[in-house]
Amino acid sequence: MAQKITDMINLGGHISTGGGIELSPDRAIGFSFRSFQLFSKNQMQWKAKPLGKEEIELFKKSRRKNNISHVMIHASYLLNSATSDQELKGKVMEGLKLEIERADLLEADSVTYHPGSRKDASLEQGIRNVISILNVVLKEEQNVKVLIENSAGQGNSVGKTFQELSMIIDGIELKDKIGICFDTCHAWAAGYELVSREGYAETMDDLKSNLGMKYLIGFHMNDSKKGKGFNVDRHEQIGMGTIGLEGFRNFVYDEEIRGKPMILETPKGEEGYMEDITRLNSILR
Ligand SMILES: [Zn+2]
Ligand SMILES: [Zn+2]
Repeated sequence: MAQKITDMINLGGHISTGGGIELSPDRAIGFSFRSFQLFSKNQMQWKAKPLGKEEIELFKKSRRKNNISHVMIHASYLLNSATSDQELKGKVMEGLKLEIERADLLEADSVTYHPGSRKDASLEQGIRNVISILNVVLKEEQNVKVLIENSAGQGNSVGKTFQELSMIIDGIELKDKIGICFDTCHAWAAGYELVSREGYAETMDDLKSNLGMKYLIGFHMNDSKKGKGFNVDRHEQIGMGTIGLEGFRNFVYDEEIRGKPMILETPKGEEGYMEDITRLNSILR
């Protein structure tokens, strides 16, 4: 029997790039993470200073040395691809292209982004907007996959249900360049049952029938401050929120998702990961 959660699942966390992007793999390994997530640029800005040759090389070397299985880049929060505003659309396309270029330079495995809000447009229009932007941005020659993150359903965000995510994927031309990142807090906030065994199984069946497992590339592992179905995106430390360890036990013991990266984005960040890991370890006993 596994004693440590990191022997059992491909656990990771969002890691700071303070002091240089090349320091992040070592920081991840400090938590025994097998994967990690980072911002490759300031997440609240459109522009970024180009990555230097040296930092790229050092990053890739450290990643190899540390045997990191999956590097996920979280894209800027500004990239609202569900928008109907033409001017914003142009900026979002440029922004997504930049994220993909930087991810490929770093040889990252995925770029995860929030599809965004349709504002007062219809859901169908919002989904069409996302598809049209992705079909311009995704290129045959890119190596990295772009992952759409499920939303908590706040405001008029697109991507709250597996059905909405599958409608987006249906419209994508380059299907091998797209995937899904399943955020546990967002799914719960959107009303998916994750705690009871039967409810978890139903949720996963719903995911499988709408999307299939092959598009499910990774997870964001977050507990939730608010209750199921509240449509509020407020992360909590693992085991301290309304999902609780009972819910995370379902993910940990689910053979069908074994090996997929599970990235912590809990509110205390690196200060809180040891607590999260201790609580996850307690599931194994
Ligand atoms: Zn997330
Ligand atoms: Zn969130």
